[in-house]
Amino acid sequence: MPEKLINALFRPQILAMSAYHVANAEGFIKLDAMENPYSWPEELKTQWLETLRDCPLNRYPDPEARQLANSIRNHDGISDASALMLGNGSDEIIQILLMALANTAQVLAPAPGFVMYKQLSDSLGLGYHGIPLLADSLALDLPAMLQSISEQQPAIIFIAYPNNPTGNLFAEQDILAIINAAPGLVIIDEAYAPFAKASFLTRLADFPQLLVMRTVSKLGLAGLRLGYIAGHPDIIGQLNKIRLPYNINSLTQLSAEFALNNKALFDEQTQAICEQRTRVFAELEQLPGITPYPSAANFILFKTPAQQADAVFASLKAQGVLIKNLNPQGGLLADCLRVTIGTPHENSAFLQALKNALLAI
Ligand SMILES: *Cc1c(COP(=O)(O)O)cnc(C)c1O
Repeated sequence: MPEKLINALFRPQILAMSAYHVANAEGFIKLDAMENPYSWPEELKTQWLETLRDCPLNRYPDPEARQLANSIRNHDGISDASALMLGNGSDEIIQILLMALANTAQVLAPAPGFVMYKQLSDSLGLGYHGIPLLADSLALDLPAMLQSISEQQPAIIFIAYPNNPTGNLFAEQDILAIINAAPGLVIIDEAYAPFAKASFLTRLADFPQLLVMRTVSKLGLAGLRLGYIAGHPDIIGQLNKIRLPYNINSLTQLSAEFALNNKALFDEQTQAICEQRTRVFAELEQLPGITPYPSAANFILFKTPAQQADAVFASLKAQGVLIKNLNPQGGLLADCLRVTIGTPHENSAFLQALKNALLAI
């Protein structure tokens, strides 16, 4: 295609963007994407397939996914006072939120934070402000956040709780101060809620501008693409106007409901992941030159010796272990790598490969 035509067709913001890159993980021990490493027992798979057998694929799905929405409400204890909207992953919900804003809207989030907040803001031409966390603690820089809120008057503030890619839970008091200062919406993104034992869901009644977003991806259902957001009915009502009517397909509706009805299995898997998180953290702490950051999620961010992150990442990859290299993002993430907690066997392979890498550099 002639470049002139491309430039004439697409918005400057789109032309300036690069596509979200996902590494090809084929053949690797895959510890790069915060997936649950466990599958289901055969017996459960058989039951699941049985529930799909009579799924009417010739019909459109229930546009409101009412049965699934009810299961989610029960599973998470979301009160009837809050409205609930489902999305094709929470990524879609972030997109819906941003699409609904005025085109002069400003978006604010701590940095480093979840990349889709910026990626989707950029795609829509919204102003995006990433406010650096404090360097050593990775805590919120509350004065800087409050100052930026006052200057930018953001229509929306995203706070991942726990944060990705740092893994920590921000102080509750800091978040409350931000909610109180916010002139617009505050989205608490609880993608890692299963591993965190902390939530703002119970605060929804206190703050009409507060919304809590979750996903089943990190719990162990990343392939289904299902996220959800709870908040004031007046706000969710506006968002629902631009949600595509059948955004949750029939197979996802049935499968997610089946999974939520088998909560015990996921609780067990979550427990195993949290135990391994403790083990991997302790072993990382013992490695010379490695500094792991405390995590309330299913991954651990760690620092390598200065200037060595790229080499360590490459060495791990050459040994068949794929994690995430955050060093290219720079700033607080310079020298940082992020590993997702896998099975005990996968974690051992990662730790051994890391030891080998450290000896080689
Ligand atoms: C993974 C992640 C998401 C995206 O979840 P999906 O439901 O899979 O789209 C959202 N927010 C944060 C902070 C995440 O880490």
